[in-house]
Amino acid sequence: MRTPTGRGGRHRSVRVKAPGKVNVSLKVGPLRADGYHSVASVYLAVSLFEEVIATSTSEPGVTVSLSPESTLDLDDLDIPLDERNLAVRAAMLMAEMTENPTGVHLRVTKRVPVAGGMGGGSADAAAALLACDALWGSGLSKEELAHVAAELGADVPFALLGGAAVGLGVGDQLSPALATSRFDWVLVPAEFGLSTPRVFAELDRLRDEEGISAAEPSGVEPAILAALRTGDAGGLSHLLVNDLQRAAIGLAPQLRDTLGWADSNGALASIVSGSGPTIALLSRDADAAADLAADLAHRGVEALAVHGPVPGARIVSDTVL
Ligand code: ATP
Repeated sequence: MRTPTGRGGRHRSVRVKAPGKVNVSLKVGPLRADGYHSVASVYLAVSLFEEVIATSTSEPGVTVSLSPESTLDLDDLDIPLDERNLAVRAAMLMAEMTENPTGVHLRVTKRVPVAGGMGGGSADAAAALLACDALWGSGLSKEELAHVAAELGADVPFALLGGAAVGLGVGDQLSPALATSRFDWVLVPAEFGLSTPRVFAELDRLRDEEGISAAEPSGVEPAILAALRTGDAGGLSHLLVNDLQRAAIGLAPQLRDTLGWADSNGALASIVSGSGPTIALLSRDADAAADLAADLAHRGVEALAVHGPVPGARIVSDTVL
């Protein structure tokens, strides 16, 4: 077991990065008695990374700050810096499972749009879990870490795992999917966030209004997994599906503009990512994604070219201070 404060009682800093995600397929079942929805989801981790630096402190407890290296405008962010913060909750949970944890300060670099449907908070939680595990030498197995991750939120286990995966249950029961080729996307973040519970509630409301009784999602279309496996972006473009999309559009009708523009301006397909409002445009290749992002930038629309799959949470450095 490593000593939490390093040689000679000095402090240690562990830096971990964890990716945001898009859902290339998201089927949502009816509202369950426990207030959750069963889903059948295909996650793809993309090259937009959150980072958490966990530094041991002499004072006990968990503190958090946002790093000025963040690419998001820190003044505009609605992120709690107390025990409601997902990274803090992750560290507190790890501390409960560790003998004699030190205090820890978490410095979070935000790059994934907040409340954007890309699992940014979940990526912070996954990064904090892995960082504290290393800092405190908790010795948890991969399975145990995934179990702790699921306690923090449905998308946290995938941020740990990365790559591509099918998520059942509430999205936390993961099976890795084979995806060896790179898929290129352009992300269009919105200037506003959407609360995930609100988007699910809007879907329930729309279904009630239309008298639709949704079926429990039984699994994922084999064709989607085949397109991922063979790197067939054209094939995948016909299969993208998101049951939450119309609920997100119901709450934010302006999303239609970007979706419509993308479809007639070179994207293979466009989809709201998860609960939105970030929109993900699938591109033929990296050059097409760069062109699309440049076109959008020219129109004054923020756009980020990314690719996936990329690995899940990884330790970048482990330094004795
Ligand atoms: P998901 O797709 O996983 O449901 P999201 O990507 O839409 O989530 P997040 O950016 O994860 O949304 O944040 C959702 C809310 O969680 C925010 O509005 C914020 O108040 C709260 N939150 C707590 N911790 C964090 C964190 N570390 N980073 C961002 N938001 C956080």
